[in-house]
Amino acid sequence: THFGFRDVPVGEKQKLVGEVFSSVAGKYDLMNDLMSLGIHRVWKRYFVATAQVKPGDRVLDLAGGTGDIAALLRDRVGDAGEVVIGDINGAMLRVGRDRMTDRGNVRGLSYVQLNAQALPFPDASFDLVTIAFGLRNVTDKDAALREMHRVLKVGGQVRVLEFSEVKAEWFKPIYDFHSFKVLPQLGKLFAQDAGSYQYLAESIRKHPPQDALKEMMEAAGFSRCSYKNLNAGIVAVHTGYKV
Ligand code: SAM
Repeated sequence: THFGFRDVPVGEKQKLVGEVFSSVAGKYDLMNDLMSLGIHRVWKRYFVATAQVKPGDRVLDLAGGTGDIAALLRDRVGDAGEVVIGDINGAMLRVGRDRMTDRGNVRGLSYVQLNAQALPFPDASFDLVTIAFGLRNVTDKDAALREMHRVLKVGGQVRVLEFSEVKAEWFKPIYDFHSFKVLPQLGKLFAQDAGSYQYLAESIRKHPPQDALKEMMEAAGFSRCSYKNLNAGIVAVHTGYKV
């Protein structure tokens, strides 16, 4: 591949992923808007609006990046609740914290630099665990899913928002053109970084499709697993419960 990720040892891959996000952190939000024509905001709002969460809950947003999901979750858990934002990349967390602080969001938020594969929290500590556009980047997804299950309280919900497999035939050529021609060009023009966006398009293709991810969640211990496609499967929302 252009990035050679398949040929490098696992620890190296995680390091490379970390570097990709350091190089894009400052431009990350602008790029999301450009690449998705702003639609990622709608996906994220849907993702949080339909999550099982109530005022006072303690929630964990993994791969929280610059905090889009956490900001929405913060509104749902209210002043009595708590949102923990976990990300492997310090630069992404800093951009997120600055942005939250600028918006006046300080209370009830904490930031933890962590690897989703080995969470630094005790068993049964959260009512809800979310991961949006993050699982794709995790090297050992099964380990990450098992960790999410471990830190959830009984009755708690896990939610995964991720790129998935496009189901509409007519849309596939357009989507491929966007991924492999438009994305790297946008990356080059706006972030002076075509490589990271090439990586993005490739990581989307390598991510397990809808049913495969559902099976992985079941194997990690989650019950009542299901998914919902948004925009013909460009992204899917997977849901599971700890019982
Ligand atoms: N959730 C945010 C959003 O929806 O805008 C950010 C998504 S961003 C595409 C992916 C994030 O995953 C990056 O911030 C990256 O640092 C983080 N990440 C990658 N591998 C990770 C890992 N093993 N553990 C925790 N975070 C990770």
